[in-house]
Amino acid sequence: MHILLAEDDRIIADGLVRTLRKSGFAVDHVTTGSDADAALMTQPFDLLILDLGLPKLLGIEVLKRLRARKSPLPVLILTAQDGIGDRVRGLDAGADDYLTKPFALPELEARVRALTRRGTGNPTKMALGPLVYDQADRVARLNGNVVDLSARELGLLEILLLRAGRLVSKEQLVDHLCGWGEEVSTNAIEVYVHRLRKKLEPGGVHINTVRGLGYSLDRPDGA
Ligand code: CA
Repeated sequence: MHILLAEDDRIIADGLVRTLRKSGFAVDHVTTGSDADAALMTQPFDLLILDLGLPKLLGIEVLKRLRARKSPLPVLILTAQDGIGDRVRGLDAGADDYLTKPFALPELEARVRALTRRGTGNPTKMALGPLVYDQADRVARLNGNVVDLSARELGLLEILLLRAGRLVSKEQLVDHLCGWGEEVSTNAIEVYVHRLRKKLEPGGVHINTVRGLGYSLDRPDGA
């Protein structure tokens, strides 16, 4: 799950980025409306969190341009407390939900989960033999037992499951796991894969290493 955050208030943005990354989302952060507009035109995202009061290009303009391009990307707008007019204009312009500042981070997380679930149209549950992953709740079960996974391991499992049976390169994993400014090296990927493998193998789920190329999650029937 890849989120674009457009917010020029550094304190709010830092808190959001930290919270969302801790929950396993990849987050790209921009501080102006024009940077948001440019990022949206060049990269795919799963959710946009959009402050309406942005420099260079107002958030509402970013939203209007996005919808004019017929993008179905879910959009959560952040508005000032007294911004009732803003809120209405935002929803009219195609925002899916809004949060009024100041907001509690758990509430933001709940909205983000709801929107990413609604937005992708993907099944929220993915299964591979004895392994079932609930994307909405970010819980993996092996033979019915919850597997204790870190946010990074969950992110890794998610992309391997989405492409089960196919090769996923280390570079793709790095892309999936990190946003701009967050360093994840290919060496770190090896460590995450190693940990994830140790947790899944007792249940009969195998991660293959294709030397020099990447990884693939084996379908249990060998198909
Ligand atoms: Ca602002």
